[in-house]
Amino acid sequence: MFSARMFRFVLFVFSSLLVNSIVVAEHIGVNGGVIAVKLPIGATEAKFNDENQLMVRGHAIIAIPHEAEAKGHKLIVSFEDGSFQAIDFKVQSKEYEEQHITIKNQDYVTPPEETIKRRQEEAAMMRKAYARRSPATDDILPIVIPVEGQITGVFGTKRFFNGEQRNYHTGVDYAAPTGTPISAPAPGTVVVTHDMYFNGKTVVIDHGAGFISVMCHLDKIEVEKDSELKRGDVIGTVGSTGRSTGPHLHWTISLQGTKIDPEMFMQVVNGLDDSTDN
Ligand SMILES: [Zn+2]
Repeated sequence: MFSARMFRFVLFVFSSLLVNSIVVAEHIGVNGGVIAVKLPIGATEAKFNDENQLMVRGHAIIAIPHEAEAKGHKLIVSFEDGSFQAIDFKVQSKEYEEQHITIKNQDYVTPPEETIKRRQEEAAMMRKAYARRSPATDDILPIVIPVEGQITGVFGTKRFFNGEQRNYHTGVDYAAPTGTPISAPAPGTVVVTHDMYFNGKTVVIDHGAGFISVMCHLDKIEVEKDSELKRGDVIGTVGSTGRSTGPHLHWTISLQGTKIDPEMFMQVVNGLDDSTDN
């Protein structure tokens, strides 16, 4: 028979198990999103998808591809002494909504033959930009919204132009009057300035460690390739160049070649506490 003392002990064991199951952090993200995972002390790198993930304030910022499978994944953390540790995280499937857009100029839905070479060159230019892996920037936080405007398009939506399905929406859209200044969301280097077929006048900023911003549909580009930017420096103005239905800024963020939701990214990284440095 249980004594009262024994009973209290059993109760203690069960309640601490319960507490543990609540306290132990489970890392859960969604396809197209990011999650911050606190790294053990002494971690030098954190790899997912064979890529070193961005490291900010003692955390790895895991970039989860839009097409990632809903299942368990591993972040591989390496240490100075050459040892490794795997940290489990889960991806849950996020259903993105549909967005139907009507474009007057059918050339932006089915581009004419003679634009193939131009579009291929521009695609190659973008691939090269996304492949950049510059050294990390120290002063990366906070990431600031690059323009004052209304969000009119969120990341990840399945998009249909004049009824035809095209690529998912790879960034966030901010509607603002033509001429509204656009600023650098974080320090970086301008690596591309180009007038592109779909993206219109475009500025690509390399923020270091594979963190790349792409700003599209500008009216005017006010920086040059290789310009060094501080956070808040003006790079150009809002316009409606390329495949666009009205003046807005389209902002894509790529982390090591994976395009992720800029709104979620800002929320996650800007919320990281300084005191968590290790
Ligand atoms: Zn857009």
